[in-house]
Amino acid sequence: MPLIGRVFSENWRAHLGGYLFAIACLIGVASSTAFTAWIMESVVNEALTNKRADLVAIISFGIFFAFALKGFASFGQAVTLSKIGNAIVANYQKRLFSHLMAMDVGFYSESRSARVSSTVAQNVTGIRDTLNLVITSVARDAVTLVALIGVMISKDPLLTLITFVATPPIFIALRLVARKMRSATRDSVEFNAHVTGAMQETIQGLAIVKAFTMEDQLRDRVNALIETAEKRANRMARLSERTAPLTDSFAGAAIASVVAYASWQTIANGQMPGAFIAFIASLLLAYDPARRLAKLQVQMESAYVNAKMIYDILDTPLPMPEAPDTKPLAVTEGRIEFRNVTFGYGDEPVLRNINFIAEGGKTTAFAGPSGSGKSTIISLVPRFYDPLEGQVLIDGQDIRDITKHSLRTAIAYVSQAPLLFEGTIRDNIRYGRPDATDAEIEEAARLAYAHDFILALPKGYDTPVGEAGSNLSGGQRQRLSIARALARNAPILLLDEATSALDTASELAVQKALDNAMKGRTVLVVAHRLSTIANADKIIVIENGGIVEEGTHETLAQVQGGLYARLNQLQVRQ
Ligand code: ADP
Repeated sequence: MPLIGRVFSENWRAHLGGYLFAIACLIGVASSTAFTAWIMESVVNEALTNKRADLVAIISFGIFFAFALKGFASFGQAVTLSKIGNAIVANYQKRLFSHLMAMDVGFYSESRSARVSSTVAQNVTGIRDTLNLVITSVARDAVTLVALIGVMISKDPLLTLITFVATPPIFIALRLVARKMRSATRDSVEFNAHVTGAMQETIQGLAIVKAFTMEDQLRDRVNALIETAEKRANRMARLSERTAPLTDSFAGAAIASVVAYASWQTIANGQMPGAFIAFIASLLLAYDPARRLAKLQVQMESAYVNAKMIYDILDTPLPMPEAPDTKPLAVTEGRIEFRNVTFGYGDEPVLRNINFIAEGGKTTAFAGPSGSGKSTIISLVPRFYDPLEGQVLIDGQDIRDITKHSLRTAIAYVSQAPLLFEGTIRDNIRYGRPDATDAEIEEAARLAYAHDFILALPKGYDTPVGEAGSNLSGGQRQRLSIARALARNAPILLLDEATSALDTASELAVQKALDNAMKGRTVLVVAHRLSTIANADKIIVIENGGIVEEGTHETLAQVQGGLYARLNQLQVRQ
C-alpha cells in the first residue's frame, strides 16, 4: 500500500484533469451497462408479454442510446488513460536516465550496465499499470458492479442476498494466488534482465565472441537462461490465470441456481418473468467486472514488483551534493600534485602512498606492468573516485574543495576505448564543448587528423555514428575521440592510450593527432607507445600500486636492472 500511495502522490496532480475525465467516462460505461440490465424487465413484461407496441420504440431507442454512450465513453476513457500512462512512462524514463547518469562511476563497476538498462525497460510500465489498474477497476468495474447489484436488489432482494453469500471464499482463494505472484514476477523480471543483458553484451563484443569461437558456449549459456525465463513466465501465466477456474465455477453455480429458482417461481407461482430476466442479465453482466476485480489483486502484485524495482533504482542514493559555497577551480598553470594518495576500489589498496608532481604544460607519463594502477591514478583526477587517504591538488587547490563541474570542465579525457554516442560525427566532437562553432569543430578534427576521413563519409560531418560506427577503423574512432578532447580546449588532458595494436599508418595518424592534443597542456598519460614515452617530460614508473622510479626516458633507460629499463628493452625488441 505505501508504494501504491507513493505512485499516486507523485502522479495524480499532473494528470488530475485527465483522470477526472476518464473517471466520468468510466462511470458512463458503468451506468449504461446497468441500464441495459434494468431495461430487460420492460422488454419481457411490457413489450413481449403485454404487447405494448407504444413502448417498443422507446425501449429500443433506450437500448441503442445506452450502447452508443457506452462505446463513446469507453473510447474516451481508453484514450485518456493511455495518454496519461504514456506520459507517466516518459516521465519515469527521464527521471531514471537522469538518475543513472548522476550515479558515480563506481556504481557501474559493481552492476552490469546491460542488466540495469534491461531492468529499467521491463519495469517502467509497472508504474503506469499500477495507476491504470486501480483507476479502471475502481471507476469502471467497481461502479458497474455496484450499479448492477443495485439493479438486482431492486428486482429481487432475497435472491441477491443468496447469490452473494458464497463470495468470500473466492476472495480468500485469490489472496493466496496473489501472494505467490509477487515472487514469480520478481523472478521473471530478473531472468529476463539476465537474458537481455547477456544478448546485449554478446552483440557489443561480437568480434571477440567470433574470434574466440565462443558461439557454442555462449549459446548454451544464454539458451539455458532463456529456458529458465520461459519457465518463470509460464509460472506467472499459470498463477495469473488460476483465477479463471475459481471465478468461473462460482459464477456458473450462482447463475444456474438463479435460473432454477426463477423458472420455479414463474412456472409454479405464475410470476411475471421480466424481473428474473433483468436479474439474470445483471448477474451475467456483473460477471466480467467481478472477475476483473477478483484478478486485480493478482495483477497488482506484479505491477507492484515492477514499480518497486523502479523505485529501488530511483532511491539508490546519489553522490553527496556539493556544499553551496563550493568554489570553482581556478587554473593558472595546470600543475597537478598527488600527496600521499592511497586508494582502493574495495578493501584492498590499489594505490599506496603516491606522491608526484605533474608540472603545468608538461607531459607526465605513467609506465609499468598492467594492473599496477596506472589507469587508477588517472581516474582520481576527475574524481571518478576519491582517495582513501591523501590529497590531489590542482594549482594548489584540493580537488575535493572545488566543484566537480569546474574540475571536469578543465579536463579533457581520452579513454582506452574510443566511445561514440548517439548523434552525428559533428555531435560527437561537439560533446567536447557544447558551444563550439562548426569552424572550431572542423579545426579540432583537422588537428586530430580526422577531417579527411570524415569528409569521405557519405554525409561528412552529418553522418550518424550508428551508420558510421561500424565502418570506422579503430584508429579513426580514436582520432574522433581525440578531436572531441581537442574541441574541449581544456588545460588538462588525461590520456589512457589504447593498448590494442593499430596498423602502422593508423598509429602514425593517431600519434600525430595526440601530439597536437598534447601541445601546451598538462598531460597525464598512461603510456604504451614508445614515442609517447620517449617524448614525455617525466616518466613515473608504477609497480604494485607504488612509484618505483621517476625520471626521463634517457635517465631511466640507463638504470641497470631498473624496471623501466627492462620494460623498454622488451618494447624495443618487439
Ligand atoms: P593499469 O592501468 O596499470 O593496468 P589499473 O589501474 O587498471 O591498472 O588497475 C589496478 C588494479 O585495480 C588492478 O588490480 C585492477 O584489477 C583493479 N581495478 C581496476 N579497476 C577496478 C574497478 N573498477 N573495480 C575494482 N577493481 C579495479
